[in-house]
Order: sequence, then structure tokens, then C-alpha cells
Amino acid sequence: MPTPLERDPGLPVSDPTIPFWQLPSHPLASTSSGRLPTSTDVVIFGSSMTGCSVAKGLLEGNPKIKVTVLEARGLASGATSRNGGHIVSPSVGDFAELVECFGVKSAIEIAEFTLKNIEMTFDAVAEFPESTLARDSKIRRTTKVLAYTDQEAFENAQHSLRLWNRHMPVNRKDLFTMMSSDEAKAKLGLRNVAGASVGPGAAVWPYRLWCGLWSLLLEKHHDRLAVETFTPVHAVSEAPRGEDRLGRYVVKTSRGEIRASHVVYCTNGFTSHLLPSLRGKLFPFRGTMSAQDFGPSFPNHGADRSWSLLSTPHVDEKSGVRSASLYYLTQDTDTGYMMLGGEYERPEDLVCSDDSKVNTRSSEEIVKVLPRHFESSSTLRVKSLWSGIMGFSKDGIPMIGRLPEEVTGRREDGEWIAAGFNGYGTGYCYSCGLAIAQMLLGKDVSGWVPSALMITKERLRGSLSTGTFWDGLVGPSVDAEGSKL
Ligand SMILES: Cc1cc2nc3c(=O)[nH]c(=O)nc-3n(C[C@H](O)[C@H](O)[C@H](O)COP(=O)(O)OP(=O)(O)OC[C@H]3O[C@@H](n4cnc5c(N)ncnc54)[C@H](O)[C@@H]3O)c2cc1C
Repeated sequence: MPTPLERDPGLPVSDPTIPFWQLPSHPLASTSSGRLPTSTDVVIFGSSMTGCSVAKGLLEGNPKIKVTVLEARGLASGATSRNGGHIVSPSVGDFAELVECFGVKSAIEIAEFTLKNIEMTFDAVAEFPESTLARDSKIRRTTKVLAYTDQEAFENAQHSLRLWNRHMPVNRKDLFTMMSSDEAKAKLGLRNVAGASVGPGAAVWPYRLWCGLWSLLLEKHHDRLAVETFTPVHAVSEAPRGEDRLGRYVVKTSRGEIRASHVVYCTNGFTSHLLPSLRGKLFPFRGTMSAQDFGPSFPNHGADRSWSLLSTPHVDEKSGVRSASLYYLTQDTDTGYMMLGGEYERPEDLVCSDDSKVNTRSSEEIVKVLPRHFESSSTLRVKSLWSGIMGFSKDGIPMIGRLPEEVTGRREDGEWIAAGFNGYGTGYCYSCGLAIAQMLLGKDVSGWVPSALMITKERLRGSLSTGTFWDGLVGPSVDAEGSKL
């Protein structure tokens, strides 16, 4: 019996919950060519934020390359358009853990990479000043508030911040200011917290950003880019020797086969369906999101604030429920709705790839967060509730690069991956996608991509088999068999 982490995630389900962000759906939501091309240079699996940045990097990096994108469902309909809308680096809060797991040098490299990724995402939008992308996507800088709901979480954050300020370069020090519980109440209107920290943040309407970018790419490179939605990939194989004229890889889809010289897996939590040897190393994790109306009295800080509420994970002895370690919220600039997500669930319900359902306990708990921490004279109304599937890696950081033979069972050559963003796609995906494009085009990325993120044989046998990064959230816990998740 496989443990939950080792189960086949399958293909994305055909009847997912509909996120607030996806309404109304984009005009390109169901885009496809009438007939699937028979061959191309590069096939990208997945049309969400990682797939989009790989495509952008390839098309801009080589004026001749042809790219086909295969997407199981609608355009950019993965976790990318089901998330909290935070553009955020996880590295400030996670710095102590990064140092512990990967050492100071790698922790600094990873933190720099995530901070630069945020700037590169803004730069990508600025590349299209004539378009309405910036306005439509509402991409904006915010003041980020990280609040800690218990003393242990506050102390851990202080420790992480001390390490950050000790090790990071001068221009990165003192990004966040700590506040006591009383200050957080007086200055931020936050109740029931042990303390808070305040620093730079950003937010966006994610579906509009990535669909908007696809639209601009399709317009600019219409002769070299094809996006085939509702075309799930079923399998990848190698063409027999001597029959690889149209491309070494044969990609089997619901609409027939396509040949390519390279394939790129941007399928995040679903990747191990196509690459079973990654099961247990890269696994799906179902997140819960909501749009909540807390009345006009709440937005005393408006949409230029983004928030996270962290607590120390603990297990309720009676129910076995592992309580959330993180709630996160941004505010929609038009409606004032609070876009709030977070988990309160048994690990076995979290490690799940079905986004047609919403975690029951999490959705019951999610409505208690705002009244617990903020004053409002209005009654809270939930306007929308949905789920999304993230990709978590066993060691807590993404995996990118050329896939070794021990993952694919095929000679190491033209198969690539960028996945496992551990709930922080906006801190990683855009740069990881560009890095894959550059590597595929033969460029050296060692000057800007942390070596710790590379999917090497050593990492597959080491931290990706034994990692404990997520023990606080999904384990150490036991499945029915009593084995460690
Ligand atoms: C509830 C929730 C809240 C989140 N909040 C935040 C946040 O506030 N900030 C943040 O930075 N991150 C957040 N994240 C994480 C972030 O959304 C992800 O890390 C990011 O979207 C990953 O992007 P991706 O393109 O790699 O994967 P995805 O967006 O998951 O896209 C993968 C794509 O691959 C497709 N696919 C899968 N299998 C196949 C197949 N066999 N054939 C063809 N296509 C396939 C899927 O349909 C999907 O479109 C959140 C995620 C969730 C679910």
C-alpha cells in the first residue's frame, strides 16, 4: 500500500471548483488549434505560470524555435488561478529552516533568487507598456504584515529574522520590522496576536496576469506558439531508433500524438502521474481559498496591505486534526472582498489532487479567521469557496533542470522539469521557468540560479528522499499503515 505521499495524483479532474479569480473566464480559456500539430521543437505540459514563463523565455531566447503547450483543462487554470494573490518570497519567514536544511550559502542564494523573482515578475508586466496587463491584473506593491498568533511562532520568526539580518547582504537587511502585540493592535488593528512583522509585499489578480501574458505572447509569436487547452498528456515515450526525424519524444494526448525534441513538465502537483518515480518526492497538496465580504468597516487599510497569520502547528489529540500553520489574505481592490486561504485538516485530506472538492474542516475554520483578528461591525459573508492543488517537494524547495535517467527511465537528454513550489509560486515560478528556457537553449545559468534547486541524482537520493521540511505541516504523521507520511 503506498503512503498518501506516494499515491498517483492522476490527471487534473474535469469538474474543478471555480475560483472567484476565474470569473469571468478569459476569452482564451478554451483556446486550441483545430488540429494538434504533428511535431514541434518543444512541448510544454501545463499552461499556468511556470509553463507561461518557459514559453516566454524560449520564444524570446531563440527567434526560430517552435513551442506547443498542452494543457489538461482551461488556460492557466491550475493552482496559479486558485491561489491567494500574494506575490511573496517565502524566504524571510523560512530563512532559519533554509539555513538548517541547506546551509547558509544556499539559504542566501535561494532568498536572493526569490526576491529577484518578484522584481522580474513586475518587469515582465512592464515589458508591455502599451497593453492593459498592469491595469487588468491589478499588480501592485503592498505593505506585507506577517502576524504570529502564538508566542512560539513569534519567537521562531524573531529567530529567523535575526539570522536573515546577520547573513543577508546589506541591501536586504532590515526589510521587516518587528512589532509587539500592543503595537500590532494600535498600528494595524490586529487582535489576538503575539506580535507581527511588517515589510514590503505585492499582490495581483493571478488569473488575469497569466492569461493576459499568454494573450500577448500568442499575439506576438502566433506563427511559433500553439496553446492546446483541454488536451491532457497521457504518456511520454521515445521514438524507436531511426524513427526520430520528427523529434525524439512521442507525447500521447487525448487528441492524438505529437513529436518533439524537448518536453518540459510544468505540471506541478500532478507531475508524478507522468513520472511515477517522483512519487513520494513531489506530491499534491490541496489548499482552500475563499472570497469573504467583511463589510465596509474592515478595509481600514485597503488593498495596499497583504497579510499572513502564522501559528505553531499542533495536533488536536481528539480529532487528529493538524491545525494550520498559515492563513494568508489579500484584498480585492474593486469589491473589497478579502481573499483568504489556509488549512485546518488531517494530513491525509491535504495530500490530495482532487480540486472538485473543498477541505471540509478548513472551510469551516476559514470563516473564523477575520472575526478573530479584526474588528468589524458587519456580518461576514462568504462569497466564494474553492480549492487548488499545489506541488510540494519532500525537501521544501522547487526542483528544476534536466531530468536524469533515473527519473524518466529514458536517456538523459531533452526532458526538463520546473515544479514543487511548496505553496509559493510567485516567489519562484517565473524565474524557474526562465531558467529552464535558458538551460534548454544551452545557456549557463549557474550565475543566478541556486544550485540547491537543481534536480540532481544526489538530491534525488538525498534530501528528496529523506527531507523533513514539511514535518510541521504534513507530518511527522502516520497513515493507516503506521508509516511516516
Ligand atoms: C489555495 C492556494 C493558495 C495559494 N496561495 C499562494 C499565494 O498567495 N502566493 C503564492 O506565491 N503562491 C500561492 N499558491 C501556490 C501557487 O499558486 C503555485 O505554486 C503556482 O501556481 C504553481 O504554478 P505552476 O504553473 O507550476 O503549477 P499550476 O498552476 O498547478 O499549473 C499546472 C498546470 O498543469 C496542468 N496539468 C497537470 N497535469 C497535466 C497533464 N497530464 N497534461 C496537461 N496538463 C496538465 C494543470 O491543469 C495546470 O494548469 C497557492 C496555491 C493554492 C492552491
